Amino acid sequence: MQDIETLWKLILEKLELRISSVSFMLWIKTIKPLEIDVNGNIVLVAQSVTAKNQILRNFVDKIAECANEVSGKEYNITVLDQNEEAEYLKNNKINEKNSTKTQEKSPFKEKFTFDNFVVGKSNQFVYAAARTVAEHPGKRYNPLFIYGGVGLGKTHLLHAIGNFIYEFSPNLKIMYVTCEQFTNDYIASLYSPTKNKSIMEFRGKYRNLDVLMVDDIQFISRGKETQEEFFHTFNELIMNNKQIIICSDRPPKDIETLEDRLRSRFSSGLIHDIQAPDIETRIAILHKKSQLEKYYAEDDAINYIAERVDSNIRDLEGKLSEVYFLATLNGKKVATITEAKEVFLNEPKEDIKNDLTTDKIISVVCNYFNIDEKDIIGKKKNKEIVTPRMIAIYLISELLNLPLVNIGKIFGGRDHTTIMHSRDKIDGELKTNKKTETIIKEIKALL
Ligand code: ADP
Ligand code: MG
Repeated sequence: MQDIETLWKLILEKLELRISSVSFMLWIKTIKPLEIDVNGNIVLVAQSVTAKNQILRNFVDKIAECANEVSGKEYNITVLDQNEEAEYLKNNKINEKNSTKTQEKSPFKEKFTFDNFVVGKSNQFVYAAARTVAEHPGKRYNPLFIYGGVGLGKTHLLHAIGNFIYEFSPNLKIMYVTCEQFTNDYIASLYSPTKNKSIMEFRGKYRNLDVLMVDDIQFISRGKETQEEFFHTFNELIMNNKQIIICSDRPPKDIETLEDRLRSRFSSGLIHDIQAPDIETRIAILHKKSQLEKYYAEDDAINYIAERVDSNIRDLEGKLSEVYFLATLNGKKVATITEAKEVFLNEPKEDIKNDLTTDKIISVVCNYFNIDEKDIIGKKKNKEIVTPRMIAIYLISELLNLPLVNIGKIFGGRDHTTIMHSRDKIDGELKTNKKTETIIKEIKALL
């Protein structure tokens, strides 16, 4: 049985009985079966990096088990995320049946375009540089070196350049490789039985380009041969005014494995960093993704996610898709803040320092309203105390995710329904009452 679609269907039937229905809907049903490769691996594509990690952590063994039961064969399971799928398809040239279609299509990731790249303070310069290079390859910034943390859009920009050139300068030869692919490709030619011919082919492939983009150069190995080959490829291209764009998670000076001569070459052009996006940009990105991926979500839900994930756009997107899928499980077409909160349950807010405690929240709230800590947890029912009390309860529940029963204990042994009532009352007011909204914002800032 080599037909992945059929095999996957059978696997799903078995899997569904073995894992919780929520996990099944969230992580398993969203998997796209790609193929059974030449080595007999089942290759699956997860719909986000988060999903991929979940699958690897919790479900691959079960998938292999079920595959074995339905087919009698031992399969290894490979799980790719969508970026890796694009690479994989390119390298393995599978789907020959679709080849007439794919040949005309850009080899670059369709959604990674300039149009889909949200520009904000954190990335405006890098965006402008990438755009210039795409419009005038080999003429302005050469090489262009882009660095920045994981998930901040480096690969997206490379593909955007690729898509742009593919569309507007279709005669140019342009190639995107990861540093790892370049290395493997070179090593393969070194160890090929027809070594000399293979090396010539390798050079023919890399040195006759108009644009070469090398991603994740930080993974360059110490191997002398690869660095030497890269050095010569680099020089040859630059000498002929061909464009080189390199991405890395750190600046050239911090790539320890890099030989000095390459380091100084990389530094001879334009070096730009890409930073973590501010809150406005994060919100704009989520809106863009929501529209692109059809992950419909209310503004509240989007803002809630944007506030909580601040250093990795890939994670930001992952959370949006989780929230959306949870909403579909709840029978909704548009995700609301309820699902957003549920997804983040048990996850401490990223930007809230770990030293945040109930005591601290209570003390800040009391200071803010100028009331006594004894009163806020005590029995008094006058308005001057009741409102701050509810606000403290709301903040503790929202920021620390403590169970309601525990919060009740802190507030003088109140019942959990009373706590829930206080929390929901403030939650409701936040939507309708500007004054409450301001108070909460101000107190949060103090925390
Ligand atoms: P990196 O290569 O820096 O690790 P990627 O380019 O793979 O990061 O980006 C991770 C995800 O975040 C991708 O899905 C990408 O589309 C998205 N992304 C990053 N920056 C932006 C942006 N400015 N606008 C829209 N999407 C972005
Ligand atoms: Mg990348």
